[in-house]
Amino acid sequence: MSNDLRLIFLGPPGAGKGTQALLLAEQLEIPHISTGEILRSAIADDTPLGQQAQSYVDKGELVPDKLLASLIRQRLSLPDAQKGWVLDGFPRTVNQATFLDELLGELHQTYDYVVNFEVQDEVLIERLLTRGRRDDTEETIRRRIEVYRQETAPLLDFYRERDSFCSVDGNRKPEEVTESLKQVVRA
Ligand code: ADP
Repeated sequence: MSNDLRLIFLGPPGAGKGTQALLLAEQLEIPHISTGEILRSAIADDTPLGQQAQSYVDKGELVPDKLLASLIRQRLSLPDAQKGWVLDGFPRTVNQATFLDELLGELHQTYDYVVNFEVQDEVLIERLLTRGRRDDTEETIRRRIEVYRQETAPLLDFYRERDSFCSVDGNRKPEEVTESLKQVVRA
C-alpha cells in the first residue's frame, strides 16, 4: 500500500478521529501523531511539558498555542515523519492552522487531505462517557465540546475552500467509517 500521505483529521472530541487515525496510520505505515496522546504521556512522565499542560488538559481547556507549536515542530521534524503522517488533534485553533501552514512550508511538506468527522453532540457525549479516560468526566466533556465549537469549528471555514477538504459521516460503525475514509484517501 502506498504511503507518503499526509492527513489532517478534524472533528469534535469523541468523533472517532483517534480510532480511525490509528487504523489508517498502521495500514499506511506512517506515524499517527495525536497531540492529546503526546500531552497525556508527558503528564504521566511528569516532564516539563507535562507539568505545563496538566491543568489545561484536566479542565478540558486548550493547552496554549506556544506549547503546541514547539511540540508539533519537534514531532514533524523527526525522521519517521518524513514519509507521511496522520495528524489527530492538531490544529485546533485558527492560529495553530496558520502556524502549521508556515511550518510545513519550512519543512518542505504539504498535506494531502483535511478530513472532517461529522458527529452529533448526543452521540459524542455518550461515546466519551463510556470511554473513561481521566479527562472524560461529564463536566470536562461538556467543556471540551464547548471549546471545540468556539475554537476549533471555525477551522472548517479555514480549510473548506481548499481542494484537500472532505467530510465523513462519523455517526456510523467504526468499520463503515474506515471504508469511507479509505475511499476518500484512495488508500
Ligand atoms: P479529545 O479529542 O477527546 O478531546 P485529545 O486527546 O485530542 O482528546 O485531547 C485531549 C486534551 O489535550 C484536550 O482537551 C486539550 O487540553 C489538549 N490538547 C490536545 N491537542 C491540543 C491542541 N492542538 N491545542 C491545545 N490543546 C490540545
